[in-house]
Formats: sequence, C-alpha cells, structure tokens
Amino acid sequence: MEAEAPLDTRTLARIHSALQAVLRTEDWKEGLDSLLACLRADFVYDNVAIYMLDSRTNGVDVNYARAVGRGKHAEADVSWGEGIAEHVLAKNQILIETPQSHDDSPRLELPHLIGLPLQIGGRLGGAMVFVRFAGPLYTEEHIRLASLISLWTASLLERKTLKDARSELESVQRQMRLQDDFVSTISHELRTPLGFIKGYSTSLLRQDTTWDENTQREFLTIIDEETDRLTQLIDNMLESARLQSKTIQFKFQPLRLDALIGDVAQRVQVHEVSLEIKLDFAEIPPIPGDSMRLSQVFENLFVNAIKYAPGSPLRIHLERGRNNVRVAFSDKGPGIPDGYLPFIFERFYRVPGQTITGTGLGLYICKQIILAHHGKIWAESVMGQGATFFIELPLDPLP
Ligand code: ADP
Repeated sequence: MEAEAPLDTRTLARIHSALQAVLRTEDWKEGLDSLLACLRADFVYDNVAIYMLDSRTNGVDVNYARAVGRGKHAEADVSWGEGIAEHVLAKNQILIETPQSHDDSPRLELPHLIGLPLQIGGRLGGAMVFVRFAGPLYTEEHIRLASLISLWTASLLERKTLKDARSELESVQRQMRLQDDFVSTISHELRTPLGFIKGYSTSLLRQDTTWDENTQREFLTIIDEETDRLTQLIDNMLESARLQSKTIQFKFQPLRLDALIGDVAQRVQVHEVSLEIKLDFAEIPPIPGDSMRLSQVFENLFVNAIKYAPGSPLRIHLERGRNNVRVAFSDKGPGIPDGYLPFIFERFYRVPGQTITGTGLGLYICKQIILAHHGKIWAESVMGQGATFFIELPLDPLP
C-alpha cells in the first residue's frame, strides 16, 4: 500500500455533503444511493453489492446492488462478488483481489475487487463489495474512501434494523392494547343479545301475564334476531381464530365473481328493502376462488356499509385488470379518517371514539380470506364523502 496521503479539501467537502444527504433520507437504500453518487468522482467503480448474512440459514442474501460503470454486469447479476464476500465474512477484514492475468482478456474477466466487512449492531452482519472491471488498482485513498462508505453503510443498515424493530414492537404493543379492548368489547357484545333473549323469554314465560298473539310474535322475533346476532358473533370469533392459526381449508374452484356478488346483494336486499345497491359490472372471466369464503367477504362489506354508512347508496364496480379482477365497493357515508385507514384490517381494530358497536373482526376476516386467494384488499376514503373498499383477485389458478 502507498503511504497515507491526506484527503483533499474538495473530497472532504463532497464527503460532508454526502453525509448530510444520508442523514436527511429515511430510506436506507436511497441514503446509500446519494452517498455513492456524491463520492462518485473520488471513488470510481463499476458495480457495488451488499451481501448480508442470513443468521437462520447461514447463507448470504444480496439486498443492494447497483451497476454504474462501463462494461458493467447487469444489476441483477451479483455472482461476481460472492466469492470475495464469503472470504470477507470468514475473515472479518477488508480484502482486495486483483486478476492474475492478462491485459488482453475481456474487461468483464478482469475484476478488481474490494470487499469490506459491515459491522451491524456490534456484529458482523454482511459484506460490501465494489468491483472495477480491468482496473485501475485501488490506491490507499480509495481504500480509505471505500472503508468510510462501508462504515456509513453499516450505520444506515443499523438504523434500518432499529427502525424495523421499533415498528414491530409498536405493532405488538398495539395488538396487546387491542386485545385488552377486545375483552371489554366482546363482553358487551355477548351480554347485549343475551340480555334481550333472557328478558323477552322470561316475559313470555310469566304465569301472571298473558300476551296477545302479536306481542308474542314480536317478542319471539326479537329472540330469534338476537340469537342470530349471537351466533354471528361467535362464528366471527371462531373464524378469526381459525384464520389466524391458518387451520381453514379453502376450496378453490372456478367461480363467477359477478354472479357471486349479485347473489350476496340479493340476499342483503331481502332484509334491507330500501337499500340502494348499484351493480356496475364489466365482463369478467371466471376466477379461482372459494365461493363460500368470498361471499363472506362481501357480506361483511355490506354489513359494515349498512352499519357505518346508514342510508347511503352503495355502488359495486367490477372490472378486469391485466392479471386480475378488481372490485370497488363504495358507500357515501361519513368515511374513515386517513390516520386510521392503515389499521382497520387488523384483528380487533376499531376506529376509536365511535358509538356503533362491533368487534373489529369483520375486516380482519376479509383480509385473511383475500390473502388466502393471493389477492389484495385495501380501503380509501375522503372524509364526509364515503369509503371505498378495493379488492384484487388473480385471474390465474393459484400457485
Ligand atoms: P367492526 O365493524 O366490528 O368494528 P370491522 O373490522 O368490520 O369491525 O371494521 C373495523 C372498523 O372500520 C370499524 O370499527 C369502523 O370504524 C371502520 N369501518 C368499516 N367499514 C366502514 C365504512 N363502510 N365506513 C366507515 N367506517 C368503516
């Protein structure tokens, strides 16, 4: 190696602005992109890749690769750095490899490699490798710059690990809070129908009073409806527990989604005579699906729309995408505030501060069913103008 030379002022200025750019970026890959872009004039390379140690499999995964130079390999091809990355990981030190031969070989057969260990959270977590095809040789200053880049990369990765851990912790904490709320919600939800059933059946059984036929019928209807509500609640609880433990068997068959949604709408209309439902369906081919489970999804969306957007007309739009069919289920109710939208599909989650009762299970069940179909479900909403639930289901048979 050459004797240490001081970094010149311009390089220092570029390092300074590079590090500022890194500090400003949330996404670690973007951060690293800007760091590398700022130092491009001082440290020339063709390709760079990061090989992370996978502690479970003991193998390496590539989680960053860029190709910027002349005669470069494709970004997706990172085999050029695997060997040196494994050596760096075994030795935990900076390694430089230069080609043995021959100036007349093709560029891509003359890789000059520099591999640097990445210490993440006090442990060797991966290796960063740069390659220059056909040189030039790395100078002492280049090695120092590469080392500086690798230290910042490690700190970016450490920041990402901490961020992931924090959001996982927050999600577990939220789940625990939701579980606590659920116990009080569920006891209320179980007691209310039970209270009705007990009250009206006790009244009917009273020896000292006689009820005319109409009143008897009215009481029995209430008992009947409340029993249905209780059954539905218990079914939902069991269903969500089974979906969570993945013990439900789905029966996939080709099905016509337009017919299925039409059937559900008809059943809903029997009870909700004044509900305005507009079906706006394009031609779509059959899709692979479990008809019972998918009906459940649309029943849930109807139940929610009736509960949370009472009196609103509903529009269900069905169209074909490139590889999927897409449903948009819209109401014109009060909508869902933006800040709550990401959470409404979580188990037990209910938008806070509302008076309408529920358990927070309906949309969780919908999401699990759609995921089992390799589809997607999400909601969009403009406050005061309503909510739209989107569902995408693949056209092709499932893998
Ligand atoms: P539940 O209805 O039992 O609370 P869900 O999982 O079905 O549980 O819904 C979660 C939350 O999403 C509800 O508490 C409600 O606040 C909100 N929500 C669902 N559908 C709508 C809708 N169509 N309009 C407004 N809010 C809705």
